[in-house]
Amino acid sequence: MTTTHAPGRVCVLGSANVDDVREVDRFPRPGETVFARSRTRVPGGKGLNQAIAAARAGAATALRARIGRDEEGRMLRAAAAGAGVDTAGMLEVPAATGSAAILRDGAGENSIVVAGGANAAFTELTADDLAAIAAADVLLLQGEVPVVALEQAAVHARDHGTRVILTPAPVQEFGADLLSAVDLLVPNEHEACALAGLEDPRAAARALTATRRRVLITLGGRGAALVDPTGTVQEIPSVPVRAVDTTGAGDAFCGALAARLAAGAELPEAARWAAAAAALSVTREGSATSPAREEVEQLLDR
Ligand code: ATP
Repeated sequence: MTTTHAPGRVCVLGSANVDDVREVDRFPRPGETVFARSRTRVPGGKGLNQAIAAARAGAATALRARIGRDEEGRMLRAAAAGAGVDTAGMLEVPAATGSAAILRDGAGENSIVVAGGANAAFTELTADDLAAIAAADVLLLQGEVPVVALEQAAVHARDHGTRVILTPAPVQEFGADLLSAVDLLVPNEHEACALAGLEDPRAAARALTATRRRVLITLGGRGAALVDPTGTVQEIPSVPVRAVDTTGAGDAFCGALAARLAAGAELPEAARWAAAAAALSVTREGSATSPAREEVEQLLDR
């Protein structure tokens, strides 16, 4: 049985992109042109994906992001609002909405080029951004907006008793001030190794627990491992499912994790819940496929 908690408040600060996905038979070589078999434009960006995942997992979720004053920005706002996310913090700036050109071949390999656009203009937090962070139980951050904004957000959260989770994706020079304000780091294997400068993911996760921070390393189909600053490791098994598309599993995991922590769950329980939410997401095509809270509870109670 899962424990039921009152919904908590999650503030996600991060990117919002339109993903322009083209299915190709093979990637073009430099100088070559190939035809796409299909093209779709879907909402994306780690900030938006994690906010939608947290809202679907039952948290009162606010997204603080920067978008353009354009059709793409309106599309992203509508997608977030449709999932129940508070979009008052999706502010329009004089830049184009961020976009990702994604080529995907028949084997499921991706090649991605991101134009940061409005996300790159997220260099300063407004008074409303700061108020939303202070009012939340959990602040969820990723690496797709400038570090200067992440650092201001994390330090403000710490000073106001809001728990800080960072998904260090993509890995940037995060800096000591930001990292010391983070309560929980959630890297995948590659990010943990890159951040710690080590080749073994578990050794990297242990190294990253410096400054009393906990690390929850995600290990794809093998689940996740929770490492505390004493070096104690708790395995979080994955939930066996028939995987169809693992894109966005990490975002589904982090959004659900933040929602459960905000609702008062202990970290190991929240991590098991997140693993179930991510498992359901990989059974569906696309990157924004987070399950609703009831679906996760059904899977856990089975
Ligand atoms: P992405 O970049 O595609 O969003 P990621 O690399 O950040 O993903 P992963 O470590 O691949 O994150 O996956 C996150 C979590 O999703 C895992 O810890 C696991 O709980 C769940 N998961 C991923 N793949 C599977 C799978 N094949 N079966 C069940 N659960 C899975």
